[in-house]
Amino acid sequence: MKQKLVRVLSVISLAVLLLSTSILNINCKKKLKNYNIVVIVIDTLRSDKLDAYGYEKITAPFLTELSKKSILFENTFAASSWTSPSTASIFTSLYPFQHKVLMGILAHINAKKKYPDIKIDRIPEEIETMPEIFKKAGYSTFAISDNFNIGDKQGFDQGFDKMITYGYKGAEQVNKDLFSWKEEIEKSEKYFIYLHYMDPHGPYHAREPWYKDPGNRKLEPLEAYESEISYVDSYIKKAYEEFGWDKNTVIVITADHGEGLWDHGRQGHGFSLYREEIQIPLIIHFPGGAEGKRIKPNVSNIDILPTLRDIIGLQKSDSDEGWSLLPLVRGEEEKYKNRYIFSYLWKKVTDLVEFKATIYKNFHFQNKISLKKELFNLMLDHKEKKNIFFKAFKIAREMELQFEKFFSNCKKYEKKSVNYKLNKERLEKLKTLGYVQE
Ligand SMILES: [Zn+2]
Repeated sequence: MKQKLVRVLSVISLAVLLLSTSILNINCKKKLKNYNIVVIVIDTLRSDKLDAYGYEKITAPFLTELSKKSILFENTFAASSWTSPSTASIFTSLYPFQHKVLMGILAHINAKKKYPDIKIDRIPEEIETMPEIFKKAGYSTFAISDNFNIGDKQGFDQGFDKMITYGYKGAEQVNKDLFSWKEEIEKSEKYFIYLHYMDPHGPYHAREPWYKDPGNRKLEPLEAYESEISYVDSYIKKAYEEFGWDKNTVIVITADHGEGLWDHGRQGHGFSLYREEIQIPLIIHFPGGAEGKRIKPNVSNIDILPTLRDIIGLQKSDSDEGWSLLPLVRGEEEKYKNRYIFSYLWKKVTDLVEFKATIYKNFHFQNKISLKKELFNLMLDHKEKKNIFFKAFKIAREMELQFEKFFSNCKKYEKKSVNYKLNKERLEKLKTLGYVQE
């Protein structure tokens, strides 16, 4: 009886496997070439605050629903813990020390007090960015960014037919502008849309109804952060339904970096490469009802561009440092399991600070240059409280060497810098948001 049951179960699982594989093959190899592509970056969204990633509260019910019919990458790491370097890595499939966009505009404004000659980093012209690639491949290209850094000044506009950038107006405004382009977007033969939502970024707002009865009580930051996630989730759902993205569209949902919520003593990002600042969601939704799948091996946000190239049938590019994730989706896990993934943070705001991180299997190595080396076991120590650098010295040393080897041998582009002056009105606005210190 037991044997019979086992036989029946294996036949069923084989059938399910064949069915899901065939859906994926059809989707990936033939049809997707003519599908629309939508890339959604939710600024400052750490993955462990999403119920789809196991959080005990329901913070993003739409993303959870979507992930059930999508590919969800459980362990995705951002190339940096700051907006401009990490988003430039999404756009170029290069690490920050390669494309050299190391700081955003706002950080430069703060840095100017100590370093008056500091200039704004810009993506070098010779790098073909994600929107340029789509434009060349025949897509109409649109972008709305609610983060002031992601705009023309740092070269993020290259390749877009239309782009709007503003500084934190909220998801409602992003959708309003997106919907106002609907006719034009849908007129195009196929389109690429980049949306950069900002809501989980500080300063947090108490978003009702998710933030329960604010009354006169003092703002509770963690609860407010979570309410911002629910708020943006509801607007992504609205956009998805308005444009019918369940049909002929591939959607990528990710973040530029995470957020410290006092895990290591402070709130915000761009302070370190601890897990809470770099572990982000990555969900890829293929149209046509493909089975949902969860992928365990570590991946990076520099993998998004090569994966999209693969999806739309473009040749693999030697300039991509990231890997296409389609073989991994098809079950070819082995080489992904042994991969070293990197993250990098460089800032010169008051003092010069440089962080280098390597992620390998369950381990996370972080080196704050000239200060402290740390190794954490991500599986056993989710909060990264126990530094096992000396205990597992051999692994830590190898991870450090792998970073240094890659760092020395990789292709690095010449840094492109431009002068930039912020107008008075914009400067005042940024001061009120707390980005620019007096
Ligand atoms: Zn950001």
